[in-house]
Amino acid sequence: MTEANAPRKAEKLLAVKGMNDILPPDSARWEALEERVRALMRRYAYENIRTPIVEPTALFVRGLGEVTDIVEKEMYSFDDRLNGEALTLRPENTAGVVRAVVEHTLLYNGGKRLYYFGPMFRHERPQRGRYRQFHQVGAEALGFGGPEVDAELILMAHALWKELGIGGVELQINSLGQPDERNLHRAALIAHFEANADALDPESRRRLHLNPLRLLDSKNPAMQEVIEAAPKLMDFLGAASKAHLDTVLAILDANRVSYVMNPRLVRGMDYYNLTVFEFVTTQLGSQGTICGGGRYDYLIEQIGGKPAPAVGWAMGIERVLELLRAQEESLAMPVLDVYAVIPDASALPLAAACLQDLRGAGVSALMHASGESGLASMKSQFKKADASGARYALVFGANELAQGCVTVKALRDPAAPQRTLALDQWAGWAQSLQSAP
Ligand code: ATP
Ligand code: MG
Repeated sequence: MTEANAPRKAEKLLAVKGMNDILPPDSARWEALEERVRALMRRYAYENIRTPIVEPTALFVRGLGEVTDIVEKEMYSFDDRLNGEALTLRPENTAGVVRAVVEHTLLYNGGKRLYYFGPMFRHERPQRGRYRQFHQVGAEALGFGGPEVDAELILMAHALWKELGIGGVELQINSLGQPDERNLHRAALIAHFEANADALDPESRRRLHLNPLRLLDSKNPAMQEVIEAAPKLMDFLGAASKAHLDTVLAILDANRVSYVMNPRLVRGMDYYNLTVFEFVTTQLGSQGTICGGGRYDYLIEQIGGKPAPAVGWAMGIERVLELLRAQEESLAMPVLDVYAVIPDASALPLAAACLQDLRGAGVSALMHASGESGLASMKSQFKKADASGARYALVFGANELAQGCVTVKALRDPAAPQRTLALDQWAGWAQSLQSAP
């Protein structure tokens, strides 16, 4: 063997920067949150939709708007090596959902309430609460134009905070009006910023005539004063737009949901009109928005569908989990019911069969696994049983098994006596585990 092909210790391969592994036990928190979100969606009759992670680049360019942070600098875009097709890892999923809804004519007999859950990709600077692969749950109500659906979506997110025990989240609302109202505002906005051009950074000066609304979204501290003084879209709204907003607010009032009006709230994509909203917390540093959304009545048409109104939101899972942690709120997670202790290898087949029965009855069960030198000592098996968090240890001892029994030990209650359980009482015991908390 020559020097060159001698086996060398392989270099470690690491995850892509800003893209995280979600490992146990943290992954259990993810599952618990997902389960809560899915239950919430079921209560509001939103149906699950699963669309591809990769979409044609044109979908996002057309859907989100060319002069947006996402399209200008945050997309993971590439050409398919085989056919040169321009593709992009989805940076958000509203455009994908709309594409699917149009492609499969899902609105043929009325509106659809849909939700999704999954990874999104944006090339941003990784920091707390901001990653390059992150996860969103999103809810979209398509084919509905009325303000009560905007309110329904807001109430749904609000209900989730309440259920999770999350406090101190501020709901901010604005109305972006309709295109004609926006055009009037746009002219006033350009005039205002032109008159204050000295105060603008180069990026804003470039965007001024392309997409002046984007300037309101700027986080540059030096520009805040001139942004604060800018004409407010709210002052350009006609009667219908105002009435739409008023109904949304009246429904929130009737549900005792508080909110603040934020005339600078414009959101990061161009597709919004009328109601836009964000749920914001001050507890996550500058990554304070945990959920954002609004109405997008023109997107379906823009993606080639028959014109239909729609409204939706997306929630950042990492930020919600982080907020739960910051507020020391735990997510109720299922505990292991049974850990099987095996004193002697001869008990393995019967123990495996018993556990299989338990699992079939809905009980969670883990069997001690042997190592290279066989089964560990009883002491070490009991240590593992304790560390597993299981409620009960089942001991498959040779003597008990000969009499058709196993020993049950309650691990979370040291005072409880050990008892023997006849294997013909198995089903009843499994049931009692299911009903006991
Ligand atoms: P931000 O202003 O924080 O960049 P955004 O307006 O770009 O947020 P949306 O596109 O509205 O965010 O996405 C909805 C939610 O997804 C956000 O409110 C946030 O909770 C989450 N989110 C967005 N970008 C990221 C990211 N890079 N990492 C983690 N979560 C994110
Ligand atoms: Mg962003």
